[in-house]
Amino acid sequence: MFKIKLDDTIVAISTPVGEGGIGIVRLSGKDAVKIADKIFVSKDGERPSTFKTYTVHYGHIVERKLPKARKRGKIVDEVILTIMRAPRSYTKEDVAEINCHSGIVPLRKILDLCLKNGARFAEPGEFTKRAFLNGRIDVAQAEAVIDIVRSKTELSLRSAINSLSGRLSKKINEVRDELVSILAHMEALIDFSEEEDTNTLQKRDILNRLKKIDKEIESFLSSSEHGRILRQGVRTVICGSPNVGKSSLMNALLKESRAIVTHIPGTTRDTIEELINIKGIPLVLVDTAGITASGDIVEKEGIKRSHFSIENADMILLVLDYARKLKKTDRDIISKIKHRDNIIIVSNKHDLKKRIDINRVKRLLPRKSIVFLSALKSQGIDKLEKKIIDAVFKGKAPSAEYVGLSNDRQLFSLRASSIDIKEAIESLKNKVSLEFITIYARSAIENIGKITGHSITEEALDKIFAEFCVGK
Ligand code: GDP
Repeated sequence: MFKIKLDDTIVAISTPVGEGGIGIVRLSGKDAVKIADKIFVSKDGERPSTFKTYTVHYGHIVERKLPKARKRGKIVDEVILTIMRAPRSYTKEDVAEINCHSGIVPLRKILDLCLKNGARFAEPGEFTKRAFLNGRIDVAQAEAVIDIVRSKTELSLRSAINSLSGRLSKKINEVRDELVSILAHMEALIDFSEEEDTNTLQKRDILNRLKKIDKEIESFLSSSEHGRILRQGVRTVICGSPNVGKSSLMNALLKESRAIVTHIPGTTRDTIEELINIKGIPLVLVDTAGITASGDIVEKEGIKRSHFSIENADMILLVLDYARKLKKTDRDIISKIKHRDNIIIVSNKHDLKKRIDINRVKRLLPRKSIVFLSALKSQGIDKLEKKIIDAVFKGKAPSAEYVGLSNDRQLFSLRASSIDIKEAIESLKNKVSLEFITIYARSAIENIGKITGHSITEEALDKIFAEFCVGK
């Protein structure tokens, strides 16, 4: 199906380069063990080609003047070599992994030796690509490998592992198989059936099967947003007038979640982004300073970005001061955001005496939830967290069992398939000829097949693996 050749042997440094405990140079392909023979000298003098699969050996990487020289050669590093023979390896090819000392010099030196002895430098994701091309995993599983590497919380990790273990692919393949079977049914009907009555009955049967598939895909699509959120996090913007306690709220949320995953350096002096973990759901907190009008150019740029953040947010936390009356700045912000669905009103400084007119806030922002809390005293933060999760997932937060689509590529393919199926259903209802309807069915099969790679182009494949790092 693909032009890609698999007859060479690839090599890459598979660990991040830098000072560290261990670094790994990984070789895969038909000459992996042969190359190991040339550069590895085991302590007891045995050659890697005699090693059993999944065995680990202590020895040295050596540089010989002549590849076949009997002499031991110059020692490059003290290493552990693991041999994994085809087909039971990551790539389904012979794999040799050299555990050496981390650090740019030993890693580069060993890499160079492998290249000199016949290996080729691996492209990004090429090990995983080979696992796909050799039939060990499908495309959705390969994509799960990226998700595992990038997962932000334990729940994101679990969902990616579910995909890697093939649970997503199994679901998708079941739908595809049913579509193939429906298509076969249609074709049989076109070829053989002449009786009007049987035809009508059979067509009704086909229609029912299509409707059932359509429903299944719809429910899958409706939860697909959960996959994106697990992968990228809920983009949550904290906005409000100056001094209402936005920074204090951000700090309180950071402290409460205790598991700060990373710090995202802000692109401007006006927005700061932090990634936090709320009950397994990653939340990207965006703090927008100075959303109110300003004459300062830098400030203006900041305000533009703040508005941008608000437009692109999954969740908006509007902070108001419980201890003071609403001001014009509050009302301005409210009028800017009130068209958005996902707003939670945070009435902060609940430890102080009430001066805010809550009924007025409710009139300005009807049907939005309100949480009363004190950011300074860290009181009520858990209530806010629960509200956020409930609002984002409409009360149905994904569990560790979640199996769903994990990226836009998969989502577009499933949507395209869903449109084809709906067209087929409509055409059947409108008594369009079956020959014509099979075109939709074929297209639906092709589109859904893109998710797992049944019907993927080489170009699409290249795009997927370009996201990987070298060595994976
Ligand atoms: P921002 O300008 O919206 O980021 O507001 P800050 O977080 O800098 O807070 C402004 C002032 O309000 C600071 O002096 C905070 O200590 C104070 N503050 C923030 N949250 C609370 C709260 O819950 N209760 C009380 N009493 N003061 C608060």
